[in-house]
Amino acid sequence: MLLRTDHVSPNHDTRRLPISLVVLHYTGMITGGAALSRLCDPTAQVSAHYCIDTAGEVYALVPEYARAWHAGVSLWRGVTDINSASIGIELVNRGHDWDYPDFPDRQIQALCALLADIAGRYALPPEAIIGHSDVAPTRKKDPGEKFPWQRLAALGFGLWPKEPVSHDHTPLNPEEEADFIHALIRFGYDGDNPEAALQAFYRHYRPDHLDRPPTRAALSVIQDLLSQTTGHPL
Ligand SMILES: [Zn+2]
Repeated sequence: MLLRTDHVSPNHDTRRLPISLVVLHYTGMITGGAALSRLCDPTAQVSAHYCIDTAGEVYALVPEYARAWHAGVSLWRGVTDINSASIGIELVNRGHDWDYPDFPDRQIQALCALLADIAGRYALPPEAIIGHSDVAPTRKKDPGEKFPWQRLAALGFGLWPKEPVSHDHTPLNPEEEADFIHALIRFGYDGDNPEAALQAFYRHYRPDHLDRPPTRAALSVIQDLLSQTTGHPL
């Protein structure tokens, strides 16, 4: 695939873990140019391996063998050095602090081509593709509820609940709620703040449920997703 190499970032160091994840982000800045400048600014201390603008141009900012600085304080499946375990991809999008526009089709097409390349080279299973909000639920909302996770999952990038999903919105009793939180942790989420993990789970897998308490429908979704995981060790 065609990669632009006219922006390179000095913001990286040495990986300490093999690559087992891809973490997707949005840039959350007004323009793509401002985002690219920040990702390459040595004083900003942030970066990602790739940045994809709204026209579908893919910028290779940091070599994959290096550890880019995109995830911050985060946790997934017990791993806290997510930067060492992952490839970070930024999508140019103004995000929730501005008007949070839709992700253009050409941007998603470019992302899918990049993911096909990466997942093929590192033999990554679908569950390896996750969002920044999944690994940092108390701090981050990106790439957010407008990100087309279902479309990606149809291509093998990320998981999506199998149809038909439950519409049983009965709130969970305390025992079911404990099962639900346990399932979220088994899936990968940080159990230290179950409410934040629940909202991150909704934002990714049931965006129509955002800000709802745990329901039977949500419990069935996490059980479905767990049944689809390969148990691929991180
Ligand atoms: Zn992010």
